[in-house]
Amino acid sequence: MAEPELTTQTLPEEGQNIRREIQDSGIAVLTFDRPKSSANIFDQQTLDELNNHLDFLESNPELKGMIIRSAKPKIFIAGADLNGFAQDLSPERLGVATQLGQKTFDRIANLRYPSIAAIHGVALGGGLEIALACDCRIASLDPATKVGLPETTLGILPAWGGSTRLPKLVGLPAALEAILTGRQYPARQALKLGIVDAVAYPERLTDLATRMLLTGAAKKRSYKLQLSNRAPVSKVVAAQAQKKILARTRGNYPAPLKALEVVVAGLNATHAQSLENEKNAFAELARGPVAQNLIRVFFLQERAKKVPLPADVSPKPVSKVLVMGAGTMGSGIAQWLSARGIRIVLKDVGPEPLGKGMQAIAKLYHDGVKRRLFTEAEASRAFDRVVPVFEDVPLQDVDMVIEAAIEKLDLKKEIFAALDSKVRCETLATNTSALSIDSIADGLSRPERVVGIHFFNPVHRMQLVEVVIGPRTSPVAQATAIQFVKAIGKLPVVVKDSPGFLVNRILLPYMVEAVRLFSEGYRVDRIDKLMLDFGMPMGPLRLNDEVGLDVSQHVAKDLMQRVKHFAPLQSDPLEQMLAKGWLGRKSRKGFYEYGSGGKEWVNPQLTQFQPGEPSTVDESELRNRLVMVMVNEAARCLAEGVVQSPADVDFAMIMGTGWAPFRGGPLQYADSVGISGVVSKLNALRDRVGQHFEPCPVLIDMANGAATFFPHAKSVSSPVAAN
Ligand code: NAD
Repeated sequence: MAEPELTTQTLPEEGQNIRREIQDSGIAVLTFDRPKSSANIFDQQTLDELNNHLDFLESNPELKGMIIRSAKPKIFIAGADLNGFAQDLSPERLGVATQLGQKTFDRIANLRYPSIAAIHGVALGGGLEIALACDCRIASLDPATKVGLPETTLGILPAWGGSTRLPKLVGLPAALEAILTGRQYPARQALKLGIVDAVAYPERLTDLATRMLLTGAAKKRSYKLQLSNRAPVSKVVAAQAQKKILARTRGNYPAPLKALEVVVAGLNATHAQSLENEKNAFAELARGPVAQNLIRVFFLQERAKKVPLPADVSPKPVSKVLVMGAGTMGSGIAQWLSARGIRIVLKDVGPEPLGKGMQAIAKLYHDGVKRRLFTEAEASRAFDRVVPVFEDVPLQDVDMVIEAAIEKLDLKKEIFAALDSKVRCETLATNTSALSIDSIADGLSRPERVVGIHFFNPVHRMQLVEVVIGPRTSPVAQATAIQFVKAIGKLPVVVKDSPGFLVNRILLPYMVEAVRLFSEGYRVDRIDKLMLDFGMPMGPLRLNDEVGLDVSQHVAKDLMQRVKHFAPLQSDPLEQMLAKGWLGRKSRKGFYEYGSGGKEWVNPQLTQFQPGEPSTVDESELRNRLVMVMVNEAARCLAEGVVQSPADVDFAMIMGTGWAPFRGGPLQYADSVGISGVVSKLNALRDRVGQHFEPCPVLIDMANGAATFFPHAKSVSSPVAAN
């Protein structure tokens, strides 16, 4: 069956975001198509337009049905406009905004005839909530199509009816899973869960919706019936969910707990009461510091997508890349790029490392197929884009080099010297973690081609990439590197060529401080738990294990030499651990032991490398040592111009290390503590622990001038500061 004919009856006074058409069969079609944008969102104007359309739809009860769809290739409706909402956090304004969405969507639910959301592309937050207000939902079988309610990941909750309607549609356990994790479901999974009623290929979507309306397959959902059929609230499900949330969030994130409360209460409440609960919970959460910090992280990500290129140059297109080194990083980079259509020459010193690298790539593809990120055919086509070589091959046609060989300056210099005349491209990138870009470029005929493109490990999971600009890096190499990072779906932060760049420079003193605490006798689990409770994704000693104790020590030694104020350990337990062959996770032994089935426990033999634990333990001081050492270093990096703005620091630490997102990053955290508070904590630590806590000059100046890193609206509630 062909797509049905549409008769256009767009009213002249109607706005631009939503088109209304009436099919000859008597079905109204609302097509969301925000002008000059790849996304549809709900802002005030769109909601006003929707209400105008609803005036028409309500006054034409003879219509046979209504279809909501999108004209965008990848987005149905991406959700509410966070910009608008962040502008005014007064309870009155939040209440009005929440009620506007709720009432508008209720008008859809209460139409006299059935409605269908024909979802093609992403339907998130308000985008799914409007679909939930329709009587039926169908989704396109396109990889772009995903439905979900991600609000709790932004510190808020679905408050346009989503917390009320989803549990009644799919049952409590599935609704809680969706709302509390913010997971996004592809079409088939959404069908299995009952979030959508049918799936179709994109080109058949409107056709299917029309047929369902005309044949009576799409019926009005009877809300009254729902109420009389409501299931008794499962106390067990709710209690289990609460336990899971607390284990996952350590009590740092209020939104999932609040959403749980609202969802469960909604099962035994009238529709109106449940919407009222949503509204009140939303206002409470949205005004809190956690939501504000999480929403800020969202904006920082959007900002990174728009990092400007140097003026007056055009980036070079990149479709073929030479990756030097097939180890952990080289193989990860080759896989990520080949999955995005880029042809790769993967070069290493011999068949053995290449074989290992290709196996690692094959495994990543295999896992991707299992996780339904690719079909078998897509994975196999992408894998074939990687050509492993260890002999000399012509390289004139590569558009970029990414060097990911061992972290040794001499070796990297040799590699670049050998490539100098063999490759024509303008961008020779190194993935070095900490070495000087300028030193790597030394001796080349065109040193301006060298730039840092520093991926994080594991490449397929970490979104951040540091683009490191050396003093001689050309604007073309800079532009090509930044554009390339964006094009492959990563988020760039532009950093100055300096020891450890930004993220490792801030992280390293923290990892060393954790080892220092260990060497003073503090228990491994205590040290790690302190930082897990603070909100880090992993404790610092566990992180040492993950990085590899050899690598961690190598980077530490290198940076200690190049950054004057870094304080070496008196006696380094890592030396003794390495002498025993304990390399951390990769040797199954480090600060922890790693057993089968993902089990791990503190290495019981460690006590030989530390004195007994001090008899009194001041946990808040220990935590301050670990946190303030990062805050101090972050402030220094900013003062030295490693990055251009405090937002870059916070963004990079959150995206590159998982730095407690709900606290907003190290500099936002410093602001929430108060800069004079930070300085007095550092002064106290310097006096009690050591000179390396001396507050940096910029912090002292800021404290004297009562300055902050960011402009702050008058706080609406207490900041997320841990003493
Ligand atoms: P690795 O030891 O896993 O792999 C290095 C590979 O380079 C090996 O396969 C080795 O055979 C190969 N190699 C050595 N000499 C070579 C040459 N002349 N030509 C081509 N290949 C050669 O190392 P890795 O962990 O993948 O690190 C690679 C680079 O990425 C380093 O500069 C490192 O600092 C950086 N880095 C590492 C991480 C990480 O967590 N592993 C994260 C970010 C950046």
